[in-house]
Amino acid sequence: MHERKAAVDAVVIGAGIAGLMAAARIGGHGRSVLVLDKSRGVGGRMATRRIGGAVCDHGAQFFTQRTLGFRDVIEHAVRDGTVAEWCRGFSRDGSIAADGPAVGDGHPRYRGARGMTDLPKWLAATLATGGNEVEVRTAAKATSVAVEADCVRVTIEGQDGAAEVVEAAGCVLTAPVPQALDLLAAGGSLERFEAHAIARLRTVDYDPCFAVMLVLDRPSLLPEPGAIQFGGDAPGPVAWVADNQRKGISAVPALTVHATGSFSREHFDVPPDEVAGMLIDAVRPWIDGDPRTAIVERSIHRWKFATPTTILPDPLVAVSEAPPVVCCGDAFAGPRVEGAAVSGAAAGSWLADRLAGGGR
Ligand SMILES: Cc1cc2nc3c(=O)[nH]c(=O)nc-3n(C[C@H](O)[C@H](O)[C@H](O)COP(=O)(O)OP(=O)(O)OC[C@H]3O[C@@H](n4cnc5c(N)ncnc54)[C@H](O)[C@@H]3O)c2cc1C
Repeated sequence: MHERKAAVDAVVIGAGIAGLMAAARIGGHGRSVLVLDKSRGVGGRMATRRIGGAVCDHGAQFFTQRTLGFRDVIEHAVRDGTVAEWCRGFSRDGSIAADGPAVGDGHPRYRGARGMTDLPKWLAATLATGGNEVEVRTAAKATSVAVEADCVRVTIEGQDGAAEVVEAAGCVLTAPVPQALDLLAAGGSLERFEAHAIARLRTVDYDPCFAVMLVLDRPSLLPEPGAIQFGGDAPGPVAWVADNQRKGISAVPALTVHATGSFSREHFDVPPDEVAGMLIDAVRPWIDGDPRTAIVERSIHRWKFATPTTILPDPLVAVSEAPPVVCCGDAFAGPRVEGAAVSGAAAGSWLADRLAGGGR
């Protein structure tokens, strides 16, 4: 096995919303950035999948934009036709008829125009414009992050079996926290990091989530606006059910069903087909007719790190000041897409500041 070497100002691990926001901040300061993601595409948990003739969002379903910096990004994306408002709230128990009035608290929920990956794809495309030196590389898995005296060495698993080592002046880790800690441990220098920071990161845990996608041969019976948000702590197995056609992203009716955190934990090792059956039974009232004929295709996905059960109080945790290494994402200061975006932007600004010679 041979090793190739490259050098950049910053490596960002993860091309989800946090990583892309971080890269935008660092690149905006004239720094070269390499964004790595182990998946084939960008977006992380903002994920959209084609199943037959249907399009289904199977991770995050919608997002908010209450924070100033993120609001600017979303307003721009709306003007570009990348993002659209879906609705202003959801039924909590399905008690509203399919043709009844929309429910809500009046504040907007957004979706990608053709699916939730639209926003990260648009962000990734805009990163490389305006003379910024930002490269987004997918199908590139980081296997370790090692901190040397004057640089960070990130090892990437090459597709051809050759490992590549990228030397960077700083690094942002946006992978779910247990995976970020594994990368730091694989670098062999956990003990060199700020012990208090590592201890805080070790408190972060996530709920898993089963997502079942069901393509239907007829319209669903879901109430306006085409989804019910039972919530993560709902008494039944289902936290969320949505019709992707009513949402405006699928040509044909297709449900996305999310299990609650407790159900997903409890059934984590149960065969996926069995879990899908239980979730189909639970959403039976919103399927018109016999599910055995109405469901024409189905698919199940198990998210291991779906939503953090612990949220740390700060938008980032710096594990090393020199060279600068920082963790961020949806477990920092605010959860969900918006929280991850705000955390990523904060981590990007922090790193850009350190690279410019700023410090505490
Ligand atoms: C089922 C489900 C439903 C949800 N519903 C909503 C919702 O309706 N609204 C909402 O706002 N939020 C929702 N969320 C949460 C939301 O999706 C996340 O909070 C947000 O997308 C997190 O973004 P992130 O960038 O922090 O992490 P991620 O999106 O997870 O990005 C991290 C990236 O790091 C990459 N990565 C990990 N390890 C490595 C490695 N070793 N090398 C290279 N790359 C690596 C991953 O591939 C991933 O792309 C939901 C999440 C799930 C799973």
